[in-house]
Amino acid sequence: MEIAIIAHDGKKAEMVSFLMKHLDVLHNKNIELVSTGTTGLHTEKAGLKVQRFHSGPYGGDAEIAARVVQGLTKMVLFFRDPLDKHPHEPDVNMLLRLCDVHNIPLATNPATAELLIKSL
Ligand code: PGA
Repeated sequence: MEIAIIAHDGKKAEMVSFLMKHLDVLHNKNIELVSTGTTGLHTEKAGLKVQRFHSGPYGGDAEIAARVVQGLTKMVLFFRDPLDKHPHEPDVNMLLRLCDVHNIPLATNPATAELLIKSL
């Protein structure tokens, strides 16, 4: 099962801790991680395997949105930072919209991500 992980800068450390906390699920359920560029870099540094796309502001969110549309990505965990501005807000909104269009489980904060990952 392919899960996309994305974290805005203020939330990247939280994403890495979240993944480390759920290593058992990632391994036992054969999860394949895909991510935006910098989130993926942090994830790799933590020792996890992940397929990285472009950084968010350079189209990474759009690439993940395309995978949602193609039926490849089955869940999106997107730790957004609501207290910061993002030049690629339109891409972010597109991704959120397409998750709804295609009925793909989407968590935009760690508490919801926790519930989703426990459901696997
Ligand atoms: P990043 O992109 O992982 O390359 O920082 C995330 C985003 O801001 O959408």
